[in-house]
Amino acid sequence: MYQVVFRKHAGLLKALANSKRLEVIHLLRQGRLTVSDMERMLGLRQANLSQHLMVLRKFGVVRAERNGKAMYYRLAHPNFMRASDAIREVLIQNMGGAAARATALLTVVKDPMCGMRLTPVSAAGHVKVGKRTYYFCGTGCAREFKNHQH
Ligand SMILES: [Zn+2]
Repeated sequence: MYQVVFRKHAGLLKALANSKRLEVIHLLRQGRLTVSDMERMLGLRQANLSQHLMVLRKFGVVRAERNGKAMYYRLAHPNFMRASDAIREVLIQNMGGAAARATALLTVVKDPMCGMRLTPVSAAGHVKVGKRTYYFCGTGCAREFKNHQH
């Protein structure tokens, strides 16, 4: 049993070793999302996103549920988010700025494209327009915002 769990653990991490799949886990922290929500937030095509979701489902990371016509995805267990956050926290710390990070953790901002509430630390990126800084849930929303600026 002891070794079996390590083998399963390694298999799961292999399935998660993809930046887009990690981003899906990151986005699902706030609850359930539809495929089209995630398409926009991540800036992925549906076929590509569906493939990632299929892998995440197979490994029991996400669960799909139908509500009327829409298919929703949510994390199968909050520990997937906790594990991802714990590792990101170390990475962000190693990248420097512990004080800046502490302030950023307490500030709640709103993604102007999809309305998701996030912290500058959990944001996928930011764009400065004049004195204002806008934060985005995923690379898709950030790209869409930049396209609107030009
Ligand atoms: Zn967004």
